[in-house]
Amino acid sequence: MTQSHSSPRDARDTILSRMDQAAKAAGRPAGDITLVAVSKKQPDARVEAVLATGQRVFGENRVQEAQARWAGRRADHDGLELRLIGPLQSNKAQDAVELFDVIETLDREKLAKALVKAMDATGRRPRLYVQVNTGEEEQKAGLAPAETANFVARMREAYGLEIEGLMCIPPVEEPASLHFALLAKLAAECGLAKLSMGMSADYETAIKLGATSVRVGSALFGPRPDPA
Ligand SMILES: *Cc1c(COP(=O)(O)O)cnc(C)c1O
Repeated sequence: MTQSHSSPRDARDTILSRMDQAAKAAGRPAGDITLVAVSKKQPDARVEAVLATGQRVFGENRVQEAQARWAGRRADHDGLELRLIGPLQSNKAQDAVELFDVIETLDREKLAKALVKAMDATGRRPRLYVQVNTGEEEQKAGLAPAETANFVARMREAYGLEIEGLMCIPPVEEPASLHFALLAKLAAECGLAKLSMGMSADYETAIKLGATSVRVGSALFGPRPDPA
């Protein structure tokens, strides 16, 4: 599945064409799905190579690492969109709001409060996704599926936060399709149109089940130097 030996341009072309095929097979418009290039832990040279292909949407899972990588690159790359896809501590909310265009890991009220405060202080309003712990794994961030609809409603009513969509990271040892289908069902119940789901190994499955963005790291950049 991974294309670690091909150039970033070939790898990206392959991924984009597989995405289009998966969309078509699902009766969805091709080009309707956003490729989020997950650059966490990748060497700068590979990030530059992927930027050179025209890729503009990137995902990072740590605020500090993302600041170091992207703060200086913004000015040189029009249309850059940065997405936080890793857990966010409330005390990093302001840094995250300053850097990211999309925060995909909102999963608790304390963080919502911190985000509102940071938005007021900075005047920036990143788009927000709620992370759902579809596998109800103890060690994993995200809301329990049964709490999701209430939480999304409460974000709007109590905090004035519009939620764009839902995000999940399925358990590694289970078929991802079950979790993608659950996330799609929850989003429909919440009236949300956007679904962030699918990674290198399963982005086509995610698209068949309704993903509007897929988060692809190793299949695009090659394997991460450090195990994640
Ligand atoms: C690392 C990561 C990815 C990308 O994983 P790959 O298997 O390398 O595609 C996607 N989503 C999240 C939340 C991640 O942390």
